[in-house]
Amino acid sequence: ADRGVYNFAAGPATLPLSVLQRAQAELVDYRGSGMSIMEMSHRGKEFDAAIKKAEADLRALLAVPDTHEVLFLQGGATSQFAAAPLNLCASPSDPADFVVSGSWSDKAFKEAKKFSAASVAWSGKDGKYTSLPPFDAIEQNPEARFLHICSNETIHGVEFKDYPEPKNKSGILVADMSSNFCSKPVDVSRFGLIYAGAQKNVGPSGVTIAIVRKDLVGSAQPITPVMLDYKTHADNASLYNTPPCFAIYICGLVFEDLLAQGGLAEVEKKNAHKAGILYDAIDASGGYYICPVEKSVRSLMNVPFTLAKGGDFEKQFIAEAAKEGMVQLKGHRSVGGVRASIYNAMPLAGVEKLVAFMKDFQARNP
Ligand code: PMP
Repeated sequence: ADRGVYNFAAGPATLPLSVLQRAQAELVDYRGSGMSIMEMSHRGKEFDAAIKKAEADLRALLAVPDTHEVLFLQGGATSQFAAAPLNLCASPSDPADFVVSGSWSDKAFKEAKKFSAASVAWSGKDGKYTSLPPFDAIEQNPEARFLHICSNETIHGVEFKDYPEPKNKSGILVADMSSNFCSKPVDVSRFGLIYAGAQKNVGPSGVTIAIVRKDLVGSAQPITPVMLDYKTHADNASLYNTPPCFAIYICGLVFEDLLAQGGLAEVEKKNAHKAGILYDAIDASGGYYICPVEKSVRSLMNVPFTLAKGGDFEKQFIAEAAKEGMVQLKGHRSVGGVRASIYNAMPLAGVEKLVAFMKDFQARNP
């Protein structure tokens, strides 16, 4: 490992070393300006160029059609749980459908209830959030303003491999893509709204990206705070107020790196390979390691597993792994166990090292 550790954190998460080194080289004197980018006016020519390039590169990566705005926002993906119903529902009595496939979509649903008549169209709670429904089992309300999904549940490791068709009259599908954003190609035209906190796959915390269909912008509920109204940011090219300049700049460097890798189809291949060897190691352990998630919906980003031998062995596993330079492997406090987050920037060598460690740990602790 170039920095002595492989960081399996769920987010903020590991970033490409080349991006960090470039940011380091430009930190004190940004491209000959004599200032760092975090000391400059967000309305100056340097930052203007940086945010425009970041948007253009993201549009290229995801092939974002002209029908959609790209917005750089603040307040985390958590703020989008409120922004979605505030922007897409005409009033708090407008219905909205939620697929609740884990902790994050549950949080989104609960927040949306304040600003819409949100209801659960399918819940994975009884199955402990280890599966997704066949799409025809989602009980969609034809009157709903939108259907909301979380494309990748960061805690439970459940990922949509395809997307349900919204059966509501508006035809709007909304996705929280925080933890698999830019990990693979996505047909953006299928979505009315995509939002994602940057701090897993594309940058540091502090910036949240929203991709919203233009015709859905401009009809927010009257009570909508100015900062949550997509129109505010669309009308001002994400510069209504002071944006998170440094975070946006780093995202821009990550987008450049992803394009240089050959784009998201290439990135997806790498991610599938990394996740494949990790799930294979779990499944080939004879029940020593257990991933509870149904195979067809296992996440390429967050791999949760337990040790059949129990909690003390999990603690030992996590501690010994850390000693060998594989850090942040503890499962989320709500579910325990082990979780390996293997976002875009996790090198294959990091996953290979983890897999070798798992085999060794099992051999030493049969
Ligand atoms: N949605 C998902 C899928 C997440 O993983 C997270 C963060 N872990 C959030 C929403 C909340 O994001 P933030 O902390 O940026 O508000």
